[in-house]
Amino acid sequence: MPTIRFEGNDYFCAEDETLLDSLERHGVMLPSSCKSGACQTCLTRALEGVPPVAAQKGVKDTLAAQGYFLACMCKPVEDMEIGLASVSPKYATQVLAKDQLNESVVRLRLELPTDFSYRAGQFINVIRASDDLTRSYSLASIPGDDFLELHVKRVPEGRMSTWLFDEVAVGDALNYFGPSGDSFYLADKPERPLLLAGAGTGLAPLYGILRDALACGHSGPVHIFHASLATAGLYLMDELRALADGHDNVHYTPCVLHGEAPAGGMQGNIVDIPAKELGSLRGYGVYLCGDPPIVNALRQKIFMAGASMKDIHSDPFVFAPA
Ligand SMILES: Cc1cc2nc3c(=O)[nH]c(=O)nc-3n(C[C@H](O)[C@H](O)[C@H](O)COP(=O)(O)OP(=O)(O)OC[C@H]3O[C@@H](n4cnc5c(N)ncnc54)[C@H](O)[C@@H]3O)c2cc1C
Repeated sequence: MPTIRFEGNDYFCAEDETLLDSLERHGVMLPSSCKSGACQTCLTRALEGVPPVAAQKGVKDTLAAQGYFLACMCKPVEDMEIGLASVSPKYATQVLAKDQLNESVVRLRLELPTDFSYRAGQFINVIRASDDLTRSYSLASIPGDDFLELHVKRVPEGRMSTWLFDEVAVGDALNYFGPSGDSFYLADKPERPLLLAGAGTGLAPLYGILRDALACGHSGPVHIFHASLATAGLYLMDELRALADGHDNVHYTPCVLHGEAPAGGMQGNIVDIPAKELGSLRGYGVYLCGDPPIVNALRQKIFMAGASMKDIHSDPFVFAPA
């Protein structure tokens, strides 16, 4: 049974238990969000001992070489001493505005700290100060905006999302660290066609990426597909239509699974729609965000339609299991 030393105390890790679960079992809460190795909120540093290979999958080579690993993916095979990662500074900010975008999505605009820089499409990790609960939220703003924008879906019984949705108010302080994520616009091929697709609050990073591409002078066609179960679940339709009206190369398609589609939209499964509408996707730069099953299914369809895997950027909103 490997021993984990953290802040001067020793904890035993049971067989087949992750380091994150073991510490939680002992009442020690490390920052964590998705518990699946996707969000990297639980990035931790090995001060002694070697983390297993699986715990460094997806961690940047430069960080892995310094002993950083993901606590949620680490089933220790030897004694380890660990320290909290300090690669992302924490920021204290304030809620500037809060608006409901539809029945279950709220938009939070946060003060932009002067020393914070990010790429549109990245995400931050919001921390609730009362208990250090941490969750990832994508940025819908672009670096030129003088605020940070988040779109938060209210998950029934979700601890962070219901708190942000129901309790956090304009003027409240909010802490976060980041940014993270490598799904952002690359300005190296301004003429290439782009496909942006996602459901629900998957629109948040896509909205940032779309506006960033336009701000960078992207001249190739940009197709954005935003899906929901029904029209009531769509949001920012006016803003997206205005962007499409103002730019010949922007094409916006709202998609609904059930009921009549809104004007200019489509009824059907978002997983099938982009490839059906656009035909061959060879040469496309692709961005997929939102619920993991939809992102994964879209990735497959889009690859089958000719897009190269290296050009498909995705940010599944992986959530922690119950
Ligand atoms: C990279 C990344 C970016 C993200 N960006 C956004 C974003 O921009 N906007 C946004 O709203 N969310 C986003 N998320 C999801 C977000 O981090 C939280 O997982 C989500 O808000 C739920 O947290 P919670 O504390 O409210 O729920 P929890 O208290 O963690 O969960 C409560 C219960 O609900 C279940 N659950 C949680 N989420 C879902 C879900 N989506 N569907 C069904 N069941 C669920 C859990 O398994 C659990 O049983 C992102 C996640 C990642 C990894």
